[in-house]
Amino acid sequence: MSVIDLRRLTGVARQQALRIVLIGPPGAGKGTQAATLKERYGLAHVSTGDMLREEVRRQSPLGSQARALMAAGKLVPDALILDMMAQRLQQPDVSRGFLLDGFPRSRAQGEALVAMLAAQKQPLHTVVQLDLQDEEIVRRLSLRRSCPACGRVYHLHSNPPTLHGLCDADGSALVHREDDNEVTIRTRLSVFHEQTEPVIEFFRSIGLLRRVDASLPIDHVEHLVERLIQGALTKSSPLRTSRRLAVSKYRSLGRSLRG
Ligand code: ADP
Ligand code: ADP
Repeated sequence: MSVIDLRRLTGVARQQALRIVLIGPPGAGKGTQAATLKERYGLAHVSTGDMLREEVRRQSPLGSQARALMAAGKLVPDALILDMMAQRLQQPDVSRGFLLDGFPRSRAQGEALVAMLAAQKQPLHTVVQLDLQDEEIVRRLSLRRSCPACGRVYHLHSNPPTLHGLCDADGSALVHREDDNEVTIRTRLSVFHEQTEPVIEFFRSIGLLRRVDASLPIDHVEHLVERLIQGALTKSSPLRTSRRLAVSKYRSLGRSLRG
């Protein structure tokens, strides 16, 4: 694909309100890739982890229910997450397209999402799976540092900030997340294998899943993700099939979510 084709497709994508899910284990690079895609395609970056951390910070009722589960590396119950997402996906910025990061994380969340979008006739364009081995995940997360203000992430070795300890974007002091310690990372990994892998399988079964090797350097992963998105825009048949399937199979589920 030539540079001109890529530019044209990026323009098409901007007009099309792209709807994408980035899925993968903790530490696979979802937030890192989302930051780039958000800029390039003008998408709303919807990270359930960032939303929940904000609820915890505000000490809201949801934050109080989520706090201990998050610190232990366990999932927040589906019903709470689905309520939060049903509201978030009604916000005006989402109508220009969105990128979901950290959601869905269970099969029930995945089915409910497909149902809700089918009912709104706004199906997903693609689901990009960032695939990474457990040991590399432990290395990445142990040295991850995050900006509490804008959510941008760094790695002390592979992706350091320009000024030690400070966010490049807004100068805030970077933090080492409470759940980025080895014991909790290992719990999150088993939660991923038990609860999130079934939703990846679900997306595969409806023809939406595309896999990327997330062990490659950040810019290489970026390039591969970009190609998948462009591919999803040019190839319509598998998506149409999955949309049809999603619309018929999950329409009733969508009604119950909205109701
Ligand atoms: P996730 O959102 O999937 O939990 P992040 O985007 O926060 O993952 O990335 C986890 C850590 O790995 C961060 O420290 C980030 O800087 C680093 N990282 C992300 N992508 C890569 C990559 N392709 N190669 C090396 N390190 C990476
Ligand atoms: P990471 O990408 O590093 O796994 P996140 O920031 O996405 O971390 O999520 C942090 C924590 O927030 C999770 O370990 C979990 O407790 C909670 N969480 C985030 N998204 C969801 C979700 N969709 N369903 C249930 N719990 C969630």
